Formats: sequence, C-alpha cells, structure tokens
Amino acid sequence: MKIGIPRALSYFDYFPIWKTFLDKLGFKTIISSPTTKDILDKGVSLCVDDACLPVKIFHGHVADLIGKVDTIFIPRLISVSPGEYICPKFIGLPEMVKNTISDLPPLLVFNYDLHKGIKYRGKAFNTLARQLGLSGGVVDRAYKEACSMQDKYERMLKSGQSPLNILEPKESWDESIKNKVTIGIIGHSYLLCDRYISMDLIKKIQNKGYNVKVPSNVPDKKIEENIMDIPKRMFLSYGKRMLGSGIEWLKCDEVDGIIFLSSFGCGIDSFIEELIRRYNAREYKLPYAVFSLDEHSGQAGFETRLEAFLDMMEWRNRIGHNFSAHG
Ligand code: SF4
Repeated sequence: MKIGIPRALSYFDYFPIWKTFLDKLGFKTIISSPTTKDILDKGVSLCVDDACLPVKIFHGHVADLIGKVDTIFIPRLISVSPGEYICPKFIGLPEMVKNTISDLPPLLVFNYDLHKGIKYRGKAFNTLARQLGLSGGVVDRAYKEACSMQDKYERMLKSGQSPLNILEPKESWDESIKNKVTIGIIGHSYLLCDRYISMDLIKKIQNKGYNVKVPSNVPDKKIEENIMDIPKRMFLSYGKRMLGSGIEWLKCDEVDGIIFLSSFGCGIDSFIEELIRRYNAREYKLPYAVFSLDEHSGQAGFETRLEAFLDMMEWRNRIGHNFSAHG
C-alpha cells in the first residue's frame, strides 16, 4: 500500500519518525512534490479564506497526492510536549481537509497528544499501526527504529544544520560557515524550510556567505531556561521555541542580525514577534527585520528588503560605533 505524506506543516519536524515507522512496517511512503505555484494556487482555492498561509499550502500538498497514493497520512497534532499545546489549526486539520477537498482517498489520521506525558507517544504509534491492521513485535521494532532516526535528526539540527540540509541531502553543509557573520531567522520550520514560500531565504543568505541559525538549532535546555524569565508561562510549543531561541541569540550575542519570518494570519507570530522586537529594542539593539509572507508575496520586493537588511547589518558591524546612542 502506498501512503502519501504531505510535504507541509509538521513534515519538517517529524518526517524522520513518520517515514521510518511506516517504511519498517512494510508500507511505501510517497511525499508530495516540493511546493510550486500550482500547489500554492490549489491550496488557496481549496482552503477557507481566513486560514493562515501554511494551512493553505498543506491543502495544496494533499491535493497533489490525490491519484498517486492509496491513503494520505494526516497528522492531528494536539500536543507535542507534556503540559503544552500547539496551534489549534493542527487539531482541526483532518476535518478541514475532509470538508474542503473532494475525491480524497481514505485518510490515515494520526492522533498525537503528549499533553499528559511522553509515554503517550508510543501509544499514538501503536494506534496508527492498528489502523493499518498491524500489532505486536513488528510494531515495537518499527517504533524503536523510528525513534532512533528522529533522535539522530534532532542531534543533527542541534549541531547547527538546517532541516533543509538534512531532509534534502543534495544540499551539502559546510561546517566552516559556522564561523562567519551569522543571521538568526526566527519562524516556523514549515515556513523557513519551504523553499518556494520562503523564497529560498536560507539558501539566499548562505549563498551570500553568511551563516544562518534557525530555532531548531537551539538546545531544548536553553529554550526552557530562557522561557522561565518571561512573566507568563508559555504553553504553546512552537511559540516557545521561537521566543526561547530569539532570547538566546540576543543575550548570548550569537547572531549579528535577526530576521523574523512571519505568516500573515498567524496569531502566534503576531505576539512572539512583538515580544522579540521589544526585547531587542530595549536592550540589545541588533539589526532586526520582519518579513511577512502571504500568498501574494512577490520575489522582487522580498529581495530588495533582504538586500537592505544585509547592508544595514554590514554597516552596523563596520561603523556601528559612530552612531549616536540616541538614534
Ligand atoms: S501556528 Fe500560525 S502559521 Fe502555524 S498553523 Fe497556526 S496559525 Fe498557521
């Protein structure tokens, strides 16, 4: 049986565990094609207007798999970490897809809820296997191998690589780039790593000779420590990672400038961006820019803003001490 996996949303965080698990159970996994204008247009036409851009793109990827696979894997992520939640749009994803796209093959819905504890991870994978008619030792072995692939992936991320370098191995990674001028890009992995929708921002910056850091490079322990300093407990996992990494880069002087890549229509982005901008303006004063993406974003305007930001960062590094402290 061929199982289709949409190359969107949590694909960029959990693909190794999903693929290994399904492969080891003997199924063939097929990933939707990388995002193109056609996939984006399909997603926009199928999805409700007021959804955020990544959810629209997800719909486009589901449509791309129709006719190529026997079933489509749709994750329903409720919580990815004990005591936390993620954006409600992930919870309603299977229903949104079912109610907006016609001619769908059967959906393989993967319910994932770790709110009450990490032990529920194994249970979620067992339930998934049961939907596919499997249980017992084969499932336990597949789960073990899948977890070890995911651990390996996360270790590679923490070593400084971007998900793109790992998920698309043709993108080689030169470790010496770590010593160059560094730009931290804050954003959801599914925006940063979708090369079409992010206008290939990571690659563009790397091609200009800069090092890039993304939130998935920051160790979990640092994220936890930084979040303890904010007055209210952050219970949204993706928001916590973005805020915790921004604070880490600022207070440890790890980057020379920060770009916040935000999705139009995302509630989490709107307040995390505001918090990081305020922290930076109050204390650190690093070059900082916000690039907001929606389905109408154009390449030319994006490139002009990127060039302007890089120039500002270079001037700041070269002659920043000449600027008046009062602006
Ligand atoms: S966190 Fe933001 S970008 Fe992600 S699915 Fe939710 S609303 Fe969309």
